[in-house]
Amino acid sequence: MGGRKVTYYYDPDIGDFYYGQGHPMKPHRVRLAHCLVTRYDLWPHMDILRPRPARKSELVEFHNPDYTDFLRAVTPANQEELSAALKQFGTAGDCPIFDRMARYCGLYAGASLGAAARLNAGLAEVAINWAGGMHHAKKAEASGFCYVNDIVLAILELLKYHTRVLYVDIDVHHGDGVEEAFLTSDRVMTVSFHKFGDNFFPGTGDLGDCGLAGGRGYAVNVPLRDGMDDAAYESLFRPVMTGVVEHFQPEAIVLQSGADSLAGDKLGPFNLSIRGHGRCHSFLRALGLPLLVLGGGGYKVKNVARCWAYETGVMLGVESSMSERLPPNDYYEVFGPDYRLVPPLEPGKVNHNKREALEKIRCTILERLRHLHPPGLAFHERPPDTFTAEGVVSGGVGEDGGAAAAAEVMGRVAGMWMEWKSEGRIGYWVLMGRGYKR
Ligand SMILES: [Zn+2]
Repeated sequence: MGGRKVTYYYDPDIGDFYYGQGHPMKPHRVRLAHCLVTRYDLWPHMDILRPRPARKSELVEFHNPDYTDFLRAVTPANQEELSAALKQFGTAGDCPIFDRMARYCGLYAGASLGAAARLNAGLAEVAINWAGGMHHAKKAEASGFCYVNDIVLAILELLKYHTRVLYVDIDVHHGDGVEEAFLTSDRVMTVSFHKFGDNFFPGTGDLGDCGLAGGRGYAVNVPLRDGMDDAAYESLFRPVMTGVVEHFQPEAIVLQSGADSLAGDKLGPFNLSIRGHGRCHSFLRALGLPLLVLGGGGYKVKNVARCWAYETGVMLGVESSMSERLPPNDYYEVFGPDYRLVPPLEPGKVNHNKREALEKIRCTILERLRHLHPPGLAFHERPPDTFTAEGVVSGGVGEDGGAAAAAEVMGRVAGMWMEWKSEGRIGYWVLMGRGYKR
């Protein structure tokens, strides 16, 4: 298929945030990825926007207000005084308090929210935020290096314009925070491919876990063992996603593209190549639906950067023209000893996923999907858009794109809302039928 209109969110400050010495999560990798995106001359083909940090009023669409207040108040200097809250909100150990942490969360969440608003407004067909994808964060708890769940916030935003949103997670870890947030919903289908077993973090996401109550059947988990390679991964990803798309009929897709499922990751035991990882992107892009692409895990920094630069190329449809030899760049020495876009895999790694086990997973999921029906939306309530007129602020290339997006959102909103209800503290809009869809 031809080119798709792509918006790419990037904040030049993102690489300065630092979780602390020895911590595997390094926001610097996003800067490295951006450097390759620039050096590969991908930028003229897309709108590049600088995110406006998310506000508290936007974060509490999902998160508990006490939790967001805590994230804003806590600093490395005062954390000892707040030790009880530190424990309560999961901010110790893997999720340390670091300098300007709230700003960091606001930036990556603001980018995902802005990206969702832009997709809603029809100003982009694909929107990318490599700094986002923090799938472990819970309503009132930090977890697995994640503090604010930008994915849940972005999906909530997409649900204002789309009846059904599909979430696909190819991080090596289970997308537990997103699954939990929509566990009882049939409007969001979550599909997570991940390592499961051997006490691997976070420990959830077995094959039998498929949602609860009204959301039963609308969560899919693909539990895998060590050494998963490109061929085995594709042999599951394609049929599972084909079945999901056929039976769920999504109107928008969110892809969490954690790069810790790549071979050689410091925390992940899979054996995927960058091209194998990127094939998931090609598959989803080809569906032609509004697509939000987010980052996630990824702890071998140089491979994360190569992967996300390559996948930016995939989204633009230009990946085959990206040279195998990396172009000269500010961080060139980091990419040794091969200096290639797709480094060779180390030979001899065993795939512990037996053919029969994969076959069983595939059959179980496909059989379950056969009974699934895409939920309609006869009568739907929703709060107003999170990103309003001044909500999408952009910088750099495509400066006025944000204002135009916001204006368009407001125009559509005026035309489609049917009735304003005010019951209790918060009023809400009632929509009839699916008339609000573009
Ligand atoms: Zn991960």
